[in-house]
Amino acid sequence: MIEDKNPNLTPVSELGEFGLIDHLTSQFKLIQKSSALGVGDDAALIDSESQKVVISTDILAEGVHFNLGYVPLKHLGYKAVVVNLSDIAAMNAVPTQILVSIAASNRFPVEAFEELYAGIALACKNYKVDLVGGDTTSSQAGLVMSVTAIGQQKDEKLVKRSGAKPNDLLVVTGDLGGAYMGLQILEREHAVFLANPNMQPQMQGYDYILERQLKPEARTDIRGKLEELDIHPTSMIDISDGLASEILHLSHHSQVGFRLYEEKIPMDSVMLSTAEELNLNPVLAVLNGGEDYELLFTIPANEFDKIKNHPDFTIIGHATDISEGNYMVARGSNELIELTAQGWDAFFKKKNQQENEE
Ligand code: ADP
Ligand code: MG
Repeated sequence: MIEDKNPNLTPVSELGEFGLIDHLTSQFKLIQKSSALGVGDDAALIDSESQKVVISTDILAEGVHFNLGYVPLKHLGYKAVVVNLSDIAAMNAVPTQILVSIAASNRFPVEAFEELYAGIALACKNYKVDLVGGDTTSSQAGLVMSVTAIGQQKDEKLVKRSGAKPNDLLVVTGDLGGAYMGLQILEREHAVFLANPNMQPQMQGYDYILERQLKPEARTDIRGKLEELDIHPTSMIDISDGLASEILHLSHHSQVGFRLYEEKIPMDSVMLSTAEELNLNPVLAVLNGGEDYELLFTIPANEFDKIKNHPDFTIIGHATDISEGNYMVARGSNELIELTAQGWDAFFKKKNQQENEE
């Protein structure tokens, strides 16, 4: 939490709530055709014409989802928007507007709001979405913010978690596990800093995974790439909580099982070397880590040729009959490891326990 003891910082009381909202939002210009009315009235007005409207919201709470000890406010603002746009992208829709609600301590100065809104503004610019409203209130505890994202798509182009069929290919964008590994580095350096504030943080060489954690991007580019390839996913989800739990969501909603091949999982080299350095299992980071904000989707098996050599996509498995369950085929041994929402950490602990008892 930012404690304002610095006389150079401006208390919110100096502007008042309405002054603050006006100060923060006046830099935002509406660019989407569908934004008929933005900030300033009792409600925003969206003109979706004949398209379906897609809406998603997420709360981020200080101490639960972020630590202001090492997350800069500008990054927090950017990421809060991006994680919501990722949900819109996961429906194969085009994000068009956001609303931002904030509860902050009275000691949260105007300058802190400005930093936060600089991140929000950058995300709006990069993703061409309009800020059309929100709410502002005070909080007795830490900072809490909620972003709502709105998007549009033609009905027949929307993709849900349901729709995967047995034999469909399981495809993922980008690489996985980086955001989790970046968090481990941030936490390590933060602990070092708390123990001795004169220590310089050791962050060199970790740029890629730090960026994955602090400045993730939503795969709003994938919709167009799939369209170019003439591929229509049968089901889709974004990877916010780790690959294992996202596969289980697709399984549950589509009523199919999945086989995931460990050797196919795309992992970045910095992520792998950091895992080795920290003595962490990189596949566990992929399965349980989360916050990668890549897209996971299924396509009919006969579309294999369209996607097999594409740099953005990796085929990591396939759907099966639901009775076959959800398993990862281990590298080398071909052993089947059951996927659980907690990942297979728990599985291995149980297995080791059993072996020790025998
Ligand atoms: P009301 O009392 O009717 O809820 P508010 O005073 O809360 O109105 O909001 C006035 C306008 O400012 C509304 O258009 C609202 O959407 C917008 N707004 C309020 N807080 C924020 C914020 N944190 N970010 C963006 N827009 C905001
Ligand atoms: Mg309000």
